[in-house]
Amino acid sequence: MKPFDAPVLPGATIGVVGGGQLGRMFALEARRMGYRTLVLDPAPDAPAAQVADEQIRAPLNDRAAARELARRSDVVTLEWENADVATLRELAGVVPVRPGAHVLEACQHRVREKDAVRALGIGTAEYRHVGSATELRRALDEIGVPAVLKTSRGGYDGKGQAVIRAAADADAAYASLGGGGREMILEAMVRFRMEVSVVCARSPSGQVAAFPVSENLHRNGILDTSIAPARIPPAVADEARRIAETLTEGLRVEGLLAVEMFVGEDDRLLVNELAPRPHNSGHYTMEGCVVSQFEQQLRAVCGLPLGSTEQLRPAAMVNLLGEDGGTCLGDERVARALAVPAVALHLYGKHEARPGRKMGHLTALGATANEALERARAARRTLRGGG
Ligand code: AMP
Repeated sequence: MKPFDAPVLPGATIGVVGGGQLGRMFALEARRMGYRTLVLDPAPDAPAAQVADEQIRAPLNDRAAARELARRSDVVTLEWENADVATLRELAGVVPVRPGAHVLEACQHRVREKDAVRALGIGTAEYRHVGSATELRRALDEIGVPAVLKTSRGGYDGKGQAVIRAAADADAAYASLGGGGREMILEAMVRFRMEVSVVCARSPSGQVAAFPVSENLHRNGILDTSIAPARIPPAVADEARRIAETLTEGLRVEGLLAVEMFVGEDDRLLVNELAPRPHNSGHYTMEGCVVSQFEQQLRAVCGLPLGSTEQLRPAAMVNLLGEDGGTCLGDERVARALAVPAVALHLYGKHEARPGRKMGHLTALGATANEALERARAARRTLRGGG
C-alpha cells in the first residue's frame, strides 16, 4: 500500500460517497484533470453516475458497498455529510478518507457542531440541547422567544425546523418535529442583516485557502441566490474568511468546509452551520474564480497544492428548482435565457422536476455584483417563461 501522505496523482481513482449534483460537478473536474471517479449511490441514473467512470449501485450506508468503494479507490471523498461515521472509520484503515470521520461526526449533529465552533472561540446563536418537551420549556425560559427549534440530525433546506414565538407553543413545536424524546437544539432567533458563507479548503499537509465570501438569499428555506463578493464592508468579509480558516484548521479538515454565517445588525458574525463538502453557495467559483470549489476539493483530497481562490469577476448564481422551468430538457426557453450576456447554465441531469428539487443553476458574471445579479435573474425569468 502507498503511504497515506503521498499525493494521489492523475490516473488514480477517486471514490465519491453520494451521487448528487455536487458529486457530478466534482466528477467533471476530476475527469478534466485526468482522474477516474467511482460513485457510490443507489439511483441508477444519479447525476454524478452519469458522468463518473463507474458506479457502485447500493444504499449510501451499505457497509459492504463502502468497503468495495475503498478497495477500488485511491482516496475516498464525499458529497453527502450523513455518511455512517463508523463505516468511514473502518475505511480509513484501507484508504485515505477525506474529510475524515471526525469532521463528519462534528457536522452531523447540530449541538456537537455548535460546541465545536464555540470551542474554537467563534460565536454562534445562544443554544441549548433539548431531549424532551420538559427540557424545551426550560430552555425557552433561558433563551426566550422568538427561538428556532431544530432536529439535531438530518435537517436540510429548512426542513426539521420550527419557529417558536410564544412559550405556550413549546409542546406543539416539539411534537411537530417528531417528539418522543428526539434530540433537538433550541437556538435564539438571530436578527441578521445578511446570510453569508465561505467555502474553505485544507490539504493534508495543512495548507488552507478560503474563497471570497458569498451573500446568500433563501426562499422557503432553500438557497435561491448567491452573490459574490458579498455586499459587506471589507473588514467583515476578512473576518468571515478568518472564521472559516480557523474552523477548517481547528477541525483538521482534509478537503472542503463550507461555513454558513449570519451577519448581525451590528456586523458581528455568528456561525449557523457547517458542511464538510462543496456547497451550493460556492457554485459561483466555477466561472468566477481561478479555481472552482470542485477543483479545490480535488486538489485538497489528493494532497496537491491548493489553487488560487482569487475571484476574477463579480458573480451571481441563481438556483433552478423544479418549479422554475421544469427539467429544462428540450426547452426552447433555454436558448433565449442564454442570450443574456455572460450567463452560464448548469443542469444536473435530473429527469423529474419536483417543486423544491435542485435541477440546475445559472451563474452570471458582471462588472459589478449588482450587474451579475441582474443578468442571472433575467436569465431565470426567461426560463420561467416570464422574460
Ligand atoms: P439551517 O438549516 O440551520 O441552515 O437553517 C435554514 C435557514 O433558517 C437559515 O438559512 C436561516 O435563514 C434560518 N435560521 C436558521 N437558524 C436561525 C436562527 N437561529 N436565527 C434566525 N434564523 C435562522
